[in-house]
Amino acid sequence: MDRKQFIKKFEHHFSGEPRVFCAPGRVNLIGEHTDYNDGYVFPMAIGFYTTVAVFPTRDRKLYIRSENMHELIAIDLDANAEKRHHWSDYVAGMAHVLEKEGIRLPGASMLIESDVPVGAGLSSSAALEMSSGLALLSTVGGELTGEKLALLGQKAENQFVGMNCGIMDQFISMHGKENHALFLDCRTLDYELVPLPAENIRIVICNTMVKHELGSSEYNKRRAECEKGVEILRADYPGIRALRDVSLSQFQKVQHKLPDVVQKRCRHVISEDERALESIAALQAGDIEKFGQLMNASHDSLRDDYEVSCLELDLLVEVARYQEGCLGARMTGGGFGGCTVNLVASDKVDVFVDAVGEAYQRATNLKSDIYISVPSRGAHEMR
Ligand code: ADP
Ligand code: MG
Repeated sequence: MDRKQFIKKFEHHFSGEPRVFCAPGRVNLIGEHTDYNDGYVFPMAIGFYTTVAVFPTRDRKLYIRSENMHELIAIDLDANAEKRHHWSDYVAGMAHVLEKEGIRLPGASMLIESDVPVGAGLSSSAALEMSSGLALLSTVGGELTGEKLALLGQKAENQFVGMNCGIMDQFISMHGKENHALFLDCRTLDYELVPLPAENIRIVICNTMVKHELGSSEYNKRRAECEKGVEILRADYPGIRALRDVSLSQFQKVQHKLPDVVQKRCRHVISEDERALESIAALQAGDIEKFGQLMNASHDSLRDDYEVSCLELDLLVEVARYQEGCLGARMTGGGFGGCTVNLVASDKVDVFVDAVGEAYQRATNLKSDIYISVPSRGAHEMR
């Protein structure tokens, strides 16, 4: 987004000289369905941003226009905050949690535009929360740490939007860094930025273009199955609080005591944590092939043990793995549709994109949107 042009657009709709903030979407490279088990995730910010231009008003109202939605919404900060099942809930939710922190907002005009694909599993929602959070804070000259704003964004999405998400999306949108992915411990929020060899590889994201309905009910089932696993495993390992506290070898000693389905679910989560840790070690040792193999193993585990993949995701992964220069391919995000993430040699990317798109279309009649990305900078003010 060009800052000057965006300010012109703002001035077309509102008055005042705005400040401009932006926050990226993300893709998770490995560590899937581990966040709510207190485990590890390894996302990177993608080069797609939600941009917000903001100018304070003094009337305790938010005037929010989304260019993507072609709609202007007014919200009264003194009225009872309640969700409207509308895109503005993400912004209103941020305003609401900030005010609950004792930050009294004056009101603001806000123009929003995003090139993060909306609803594709690349977290346009966190990009919207973090960019509008920074924008709202700027109207009081306030500052918060990235971690604090991420936690407030999660709270807004949990309590206001009603989506029971973990902390990953907001955290990476705040803390992303060029050429780095972010290894995050979802229990302690300790994190480490790990360099990716950006010259040799590209991260290619392929959208299945489907979203199967069972997503959210299955999500809740998985969470319950993991909790059940912890409960049973506690008989042998009394100290554990979450699956993250059990190593794969500890698990293998007692896994026969778990019902079949619970056993499979736990095996995925525990082995996925181990794969995430191994991925960091592999990258630090410069072993990118190994990282690709771990991504492949992650997909197989999500498909067979966690059972959150679907026909379209499996197909996209299969055709990707078949391409020369593809080091690893897996589903990313919650599953039952959404995107795959692929590690591809830079000089093979063009062929990869064409071949995968074509093969997927032949098999499904769907045209996959394909995005090539490098790890990008987190939320910031555009100056
Ligand atoms: P994802 O985060 O994977 O893109 P979600 O369903 O979590 O999907 O979030 C998408 C929702 O976020 C949209 O339906 C819309 O309500 C809101 N949203 C995201 N980006 C924008 C935008 N630029 N303008 C208005 N609303 C947006
Ligand atoms: Mg989202």
